[in-house]
Amino acid sequence: MQSTWDVVVIGGGLAGLCAAIAARRGGASVRLLESAPPAFRGGNARHARNFRIVHDAPTPHVPDSYHASEFIDELDRVTAGERDPALAERLAGESETIAPWLMTNGVHLQDPAVGIVPYSRRTVFPLGGGKAMINALYATASDLGVTISADSEVGTLRQAADGCWRVSLAADSPGGSTLEARSVVVCAGGAGADPDWLRSHYGDTADGFMVRGTAYANGRVLTDLISAGARTVGDPTVCHMVAVDARGPRFDGGIATRITAIPHGIVVDGSGARIDATGAGAEPTHYARWGPRIAACVDQTAYLILDADGLQRAAPQAFPPIVGTTIADLAAALGLDPAALAHSTGAFNAALAAGARPIATAPFAAYPMRPGVTFVHYGVAVDQHMRVIWTDGRRNDNLFAAGMIMAANVIGRGYLAGLGLTLAAVFGRLAGEEAARHVVG
Ligand SMILES: Cc1cc2nc3c(=O)[nH]c(=O)nc-3n(C[C@H](O)[C@H](O)[C@H](O)COP(=O)(O)OP(=O)(O)OC[C@H]3O[C@@H](n4cnc5c(N)ncnc54)[C@H](O)[C@@H]3O)c2cc1C
Repeated sequence: MQSTWDVVVIGGGLAGLCAAIAARRGGASVRLLESAPPAFRGGNARHARNFRIVHDAPTPHVPDSYHASEFIDELDRVTAGERDPALAERLAGESETIAPWLMTNGVHLQDPAVGIVPYSRRTVFPLGGGKAMINALYATASDLGVTISADSEVGTLRQAADGCWRVSLAADSPGGSTLEARSVVVCAGGAGADPDWLRSHYGDTADGFMVRGTAYANGRVLTDLISAGARTVGDPTVCHMVAVDARGPRFDGGIATRITAIPHGIVVDGSGARIDATGAGAEPTHYARWGPRIAACVDQTAYLILDADGLQRAAPQAFPPIVGTTIADLAAALGLDPAALAHSTGAFNAALAAGARPIATAPFAAYPMRPGVTFVHYGVAVDQHMRVIWTDGRRNDNLFAAGMIMAANVIGRGYLAGLGLTLAAVFGRLAGEEAARHVVG
């Protein structure tokens, strides 16, 4: 197989696919290297539902309007100013064309009038979910002539004297070897799936974290770039985490294991003591406020306690609830102190807030919860052309980064629904175009 390529794309998630397709359409020969085996290709977009787009009028896939100024205002609010304003503007502006571009490349979008998706004027939903979108983009990339290699983990990236990059596959990657690239786009995601990396920043508590997405986003290339002198953005000790069922898998549980029933009961820690819910709210994204609270518990475990009434009002969860005919039975089933749990439910019932319901009707139910990491607000700095910036301010004309690996440039903290896919697609496309332009002109 050819060993010199115009563009090598590292990572076959949404950002990498968009970069590869854009570079190939720009006339470059493209090799896409993905560390996961074929069944797990696509990174975290496999789990995703919707992405955020600007539109000034209704389209067949999104109602009403959502203006660029609203996008920017919302981004400013959630990041509290921790973002590159020019990149944020670019993200909002280019989100307007990303849905048609994805459709040109084989992605189908849900028609809100006939489907079962919730009303959303800010986001569109790929038909069949993120996995269908990923499969469509892989098919398009392949049809366009992108050479795709699964089971190919990149270990290191080094620039040769001629300016080209030597992309070395990890020694344990099947067919491990070194490729030469005139241009490289790094789309390898963040580092949040590496237990050792998490432990180095969060201490032993990291052993209690679940990772909601792919186990293959292990930060190997991010760490390599940083040790080679790439400038970093964001904070490795700040991550987006949500409440997930403690019985789910350590990796790749996706959105199915998220616990959405918290507003219908109370949360207690391993001692049976109630965790203060002040400020957690009851809006649809409340579970993101509970992630850090659960992470602060002993053994990073907490329990949602419901009565029969609360259980009926809550949406079904992925795992069945643990049940008990009395609070004492439930405590025994959970391994909690019965007196402490009775005290917590009793105190809650005695001091009911207006509009709240007591935990009083048998049978009682519980969900054990842990924090599930979605992503870490940390990565490499890039400029307006998606070029990686080195600590001395230098940048190469042929080294780009896109997607989660540079997301902290626009979300240094906080999150907006549908932002992850949008930034992967928008910046991936842009990086691919720039990489091809560098080589092909
Ligand atoms: C459970 C879950 C639900 C989500 N839901 C939504 C949603 O509804 N809407 C939304 O907008 N966002 C959502 N997100 C976020 C969104 O999925 C991500 O922001 C987006 O998919 C990031 O794409 P990416 O390509 O940058 O990175 P990733 O998806 O992390 O892809 C990186 C790819 O690089 C590969 N890779 C890593 N290291 C190497 C290496 N050394 N060599 C070769 N390949 C490598 C990995 O295997 C992976 O395929 C969700 C995330 C999760 C975890």
